[in-house]
Amino acid sequence: MATVLVTGASRGIGLALARRAAARGDTVIACARDPEAADLAGLDGVRREPVDVADPETCAALARRLEGETIDLLICNAGVYVGRGRIDDAAFAPEDWAGTFAVNVAGVFHTVRALRPLMRRPGGRIAVISSRMGSNAEAGGGSYIYRASKAAATNLATNLALDLKPEGIAVASYHPGWVRTDMGGDAADISVGESAAGLLTRFDALDLETSGVFEAWDGRRIPF
Ligand code: NDP
Repeated sequence: MATVLVTGASRGIGLALARRAAARGDTVIACARDPEAADLAGLDGVRREPVDVADPETCAALARRLEGETIDLLICNAGVYVGRGRIDDAAFAPEDWAGTFAVNVAGVFHTVRALRPLMRRPGGRIAVISSRMGSNAEAGGGSYIYRASKAAATNLATNLALDLKPEGIAVASYHPGWVRTDMGGDAADISVGESAAGLLTRFDALDLETSGVFEAWDGRRIPF
């Protein structure tokens, strides 16, 4: 039985990943800014922990509470999407840039750095939930903050993959699909259940040979 830790598990894809991992028998540690969030609090057999990934002290405090435990799979899922327009839109204020990068990029780093000592060696896996919107090869214009943050998240995962390989820890980044969540909206392509099922299959397949990949929930490689 694997121990799986998920950030941003209060709703959306993170909640679905926690639910599905628990249903298959994994030990799940579901982290959220508000671990008493209604949907998460209703999940049976899931340990809930308060973590704001933008605050490194909450990540360090989590690591202290988990001392002596071993994490097999760390899923860095927490994310925000601010500013969906084109260049003349008002939604690209300095605080929007800083706030997004604090969660989508630095938040991944704080989480990984704090929990790295607890990762299984060899055999630990770290999954960074990025987005194909961060791919240069698939650039579509607009949504500048979000696209840049996800490009940075994938870049971070690639460099962590290099650095953690000698420790026996594999790292990769993933596009979860266009998913019907608060972020993805009602018109999106797939449900959280479909996304979570596909992602967990991809995470299971991640090893030191494939470490550093950027792939979608259905196994397609994303050109970066
Ligand atoms: P939601 O907006 O539905 O959920 C986002 C989650 O991230 C919430 O649990 C939220 O918690 C959490 N979160 C936000 N900021 C923080 C923080 N500072 N610390 C901890 N948790 C935080 O989004 P999705 O479920 O759709 O997205 C999940 C991931 O998938 C994100 O990284 C997103 O960028 C990515 N993604 C989503 C796509 C989609 O189509 N939905 C497409 C491509 C990528 P809270 O409830 O406290 O706000």
